[in-house]
Parts: sequence; C-alpha cells; structure tokens
Amino acid sequence: MTKYEIVLHPDQKLKKKCLPISEITNEIRSIGMKMLETMYAAPGIGLAAPQVGVLKRMFVMDCSEKNKASEPYICINPEIKWVSERKSVYEEGCLSIPDFYGDIERPSEIRLSCLNEDGESVEYYFDGLEATCVQHEIDHLNGILFIDYLGSMRRQIITTKMKKLKKQNALLSFSGTIGV
Ligand SMILES: [Zn+2]
Repeated sequence: MTKYEIVLHPDQKLKKKCLPISEITNEIRSIGMKMLETMYAAPGIGLAAPQVGVLKRMFVMDCSEKNKASEPYICINPEIKWVSERKSVYEEGCLSIPDFYGDIERPSEIRLSCLNEDGESVEYYFDGLEATCVQHEIDHLNGILFIDYLGSMRRQIITTKMKKLKKQNALLSFSGTIGV
C-alpha cells in the first residue's frame, strides 16, 4: 500500500475545520488504512486526516508500546463526551511540525464516541498518552495545532523555521527532478 505525503506546517489545510463523514464507504476505509500505514512509517502514534490533505473528521492512532501487540484505531466523526478535571502535561510533537516539541496541559482522562471503520458507534475511555493523543488529533480536525497553545513568540519562531525547512525541501525535490 502506498503512503500519503504528510502536510507540513504552515499550510492552509491544517487551519481548516474538517467536515463530518456522512457514509462509511470503502473509500473512507482505504483512506483510514493508508493513514495508518503513513503513521507507522513516519513513525508516529497519531495522524489526523487534514495532515494528509483530506479535510474530513477522521484520525488514526496507535499508542501501543514498542515490541508489544499493535492497537490501531480508526476514529471517524470523533466527539469528546467527557473530560476529567484532573490535567496532565505531556511533551507533544506533531508529524506536521517535525523536530519541535512543547509541554501541553490537557485533561488526563476522556470519554470518546466515534464511528469505527465498519460504521459502528463505539465509545472509548482513554487516559494517559492515549487521552492526550486523541485531544491532539481532534484539535487537528478543528484547525488547531499544539503550537497554538504556546506563547506567540515561540510559535512565531517555530513557524519561521518550518517555512525555511519547507523551502529547502522544495529546492531539494526540484534539483532531484532535473538531476542536479
Ligand atoms: Zn499533530
């Protein structure tokens, strides 16, 4: 299976509110599978549809530990039904903002309802890393990035460095095409 190319910040696609999925078709299932492949290859523990240029309310996640059985989730039209008052802080990163990290505080526990890839309504309770990951991914579906929680100075510095990186990437792929 081929992988998606991951959309890098800054990009308008990462700032959009994504639309709900009205029907779970084979196309949606194959987007989910391809997103999982892309996430595992990166490697990452979560990936939201807008990060691969698909502006739909869907994300994939697998927070299982290395060398343990994988626990892949495909979550469609996810909704957070409850969050705990207790908060935790995790150092977050993002496949769309590689090599930058920030300490972000979020509720420690959540209840999530969504559709799975078979179109069934499911509800999950998550805590720890999974709870943080789900909240990070749902933010993506609303056009929010983890750097939006950092101070504007820090966010500006990261964005400037990312712009530079994207320019370099574009130059590299251009010289690749003409064989220089
Ligand atoms: Zn992210």
